[in-house]
Amino acid sequence: MKEMLLGVPVSNFTYKQLIDQLFNRMDEGKKSFIVAINPEKIMKAQKDRALLKLLNAADYQIPDGVGLIIASILKGGKLRRRVTGIDMMMTLCQAAADRNKRVFLYGGKPGVAEQAKAGLEELYPDIVITGVMDGYVKDQNLITKTINEASPDIVFVALGSPTQEYWIVNNMHHLSAKVFQGVGGSFDVISGRVKRAPAFFQTIGLEWLYRLMKEPKRWKRQIILPVFLYKALKE
Ligand code: UDP
Repeated sequence: MKEMLLGVPVSNFTYKQLIDQLFNRMDEGKKSFIVAINPEKIMKAQKDRALLKLLNAADYQIPDGVGLIIASILKGGKLRRRVTGIDMMMTLCQAAADRNKRVFLYGGKPGVAEQAKAGLEELYPDIVITGVMDGYVKDQNLITKTINEASPDIVFVALGSPTQEYWIVNNMHHLSAKVFQGVGGSFDVISGRVKRAPAFFQTIGLEWLYRLMKEPKRWKRQIILPVFLYKALKE
């Protein structure tokens, strides 16, 4: 159930299938690392072997960018729906609340993870968030000690990409938590500091256009889409 795009596997699972698998693995004591994939990360990995290896090391590479769906359609693949990092996080939080699993939030500017915690507690009254830590603490021992003492089952890491993914592979094996997801700027959105694109833009796959209008300097990140599609078709 994975499709390769320029050397990067992309999982073709629905949110429900992902949740079922993640919780089954958790019950079996297995660890899972979730990374959100978009054309920008795949293109970066073409020139960066370590990053390519890192993206391959994840257990679930979710198709976060609409560019991946377009590439898959053009290549006759099976990917049809995005699984975005933030929606995956929200779905995991809902499932954690339903199944009594504990959550930790690591990353973001000081104060943001606390606000995201409050936002999640309002959305999912049964959620248990056992701790938060901002993304500017430098003492690695303090970070891992704090997380282990909070004994979460799921850790969301919001340090930006690829820092958060490197942090996960380097630390997941000395942490007792089972599920690790890199979530980029999601705490900023959940805390209400940054607005997500309106639902309309999300449904028609134009979230990138909304973000481009809000932050025109993102064009440099987005210009790679046609190059990505060309390369993906040619491979
Ligand atoms: N961040 C952090 N520590 C750092 C650098 C960044 O916690 O040393 C946080 C930052 O506050 C922001 C997130 O990482 O909340 C990066 O968000 P961005 O939208 O840039 O993520 P990306 O687009 O890389 O997924």
